[in-house]
Amino acid sequence: MITKKNSLLFKTLSNIIFFSVFILLFLWLIQVVFYNLFYEKYTIRRLDNIKKTIEKAKDEELATILENIAYEDNICIEVTDGYASVGYNLRTKACALGKNYDFITKIKRDVYSGAYGRYIINNKELANKSLLYGIKKNNNFIFIYSSLEDVNTTSNVLRSQLIYITIIVIIFAIGIAYFISKRITKPILKMTNSAKKLGEGDYRVVFEKTGITEMDDLANTLNAATSELNKKNEIRNDLVANVSHDFKTPLTMIKAYAEMVKDFSYKDTKKRNENIDVIIKETDRLNTLVNDILDLKKLEQSKEILNIEKYDIINEIKEIINKFNYLKKDGYFISYEGPDKLLIEADKSKLNQVVYNLINNALNYTGKDKKVVVKVTKNKNDSLIEIVDTGKGIDTEELKYIWEKYYRSGKKHQRNEIGTGLGLSIVKEILVRHNFNYGVQSTKGKGSTFYFNIKNVK
Ligand code: ADP
Repeated sequence: MITKKNSLLFKTLSNIIFFSVFILLFLWLIQVVFYNLFYEKYTIRRLDNIKKTIEKAKDEELATILENIAYEDNICIEVTDGYASVGYNLRTKACALGKNYDFITKIKRDVYSGAYGRYIINNKELANKSLLYGIKKNNNFIFIYSSLEDVNTTSNVLRSQLIYITIIVIIFAIGIAYFISKRITKPILKMTNSAKKLGEGDYRVVFEKTGITEMDDLANTLNAATSELNKKNEIRNDLVANVSHDFKTPLTMIKAYAEMVKDFSYKDTKKRNENIDVIIKETDRLNTLVNDILDLKKLEQSKEILNIEKYDIINEIKEIINKFNYLKKDGYFISYEGPDKLLIEADKSKLNQVVYNLINNALNYTGKDKKVVVKVTKNKNDSLIEIVDTGKGIDTEELKYIWEKYYRSGKKHQRNEIGTGLGLSIVKEILVRHNFNYGVQSTKGKGSTFYFNIKNVK
């Protein structure tokens, strides 16, 4: 990863180096190429200002001002009446004014004859380009002189300094890029390894915290996803066990009872009928199981479109309750509380299945009193259908899984029936299709209330 062109190290490195080179080039350009230009302009501006100060100065102040300029600005000054110098201030080094250069004498002569102003001297005899100003003040002439001396020396120094700076910056850039990318790639590599393990089916893998906020967020999300996958995987594993078990039990019973009929009871009508009843009951169970699986599959694959019609749901609820009459002999009791009529719009047979599954579950899981209540409450805009039992309730952490396919809690049923683990997934699928709000409220030790809301028909 580190040597690849698309690696983080390579990208960080190239970006940082690109940025450094850009800054360095800019510095080179400013310091080396434009320096002379800047310096010259700056010196000219400075001398222009000095010239103005001298011109404006009152006579009595002039001597002091000249003195100050000479000292503070390191400038060479000569005051002359046109024939002889009346004052010098030639203490600065490299002052050409006091020396009898022809070109200086020529400029001076020009100034005496009225050509005041700025002269740029570029003469071989002088080491550097120089500036000379001729100013007329009262009856005197004032010359100010400055050489543009250090420009070349300075830019040479700068140039060699910049070479060192460039080398140091490049070394630092490589170091920083390496450090940054290591700091980021290390946790990424760790996460990639964990993700690989996850991909291989190790759901116990933990994505470790790195100390980088964005990475930690990613680690948290991946950990949450892993735990969800783990749970789903457990459910899927249970499914195989559950489904095979669910098929095996009735099949074993059917086989055993069929053999019993064949070997012993085929002549004894009463015994034979009893045995055949068991076979029929077990066949029914198998049928229910297969139907549940098929129903869910069909629903999930959207093969069935809802057949919405207007009907009285209370009538249907009552009929469904009657279907469970056969349980009365075992002490089960279902009561209904609510209006006598409630028109709704839904897929009748599918919604009947919802009510049936919820009542069936309530009976399966209700408490020792074996009571189940179906409650219908008509509100302003919608109606609430509740199926209440008095069972042990459902654990809070289990609540979010009960709607999953094949999820079955390990607890024993009150009724001696084994569910398919599909009932609630079918309920959920149908209610979601109808866009009906649904849910469950459960209190441990007190019981559960499964509910859904249906919009009122106008
Ligand atoms: P099952 O065939 O196991 O009843 P369901 O999908 O109908 O499958 O329900 C899934 C699980 O939800 C059940 O195994 C049970 O743990 C829980 N459950 C469903 N209804 C109730 C209820 N009325 N009281 C307590 N637990 C319930």
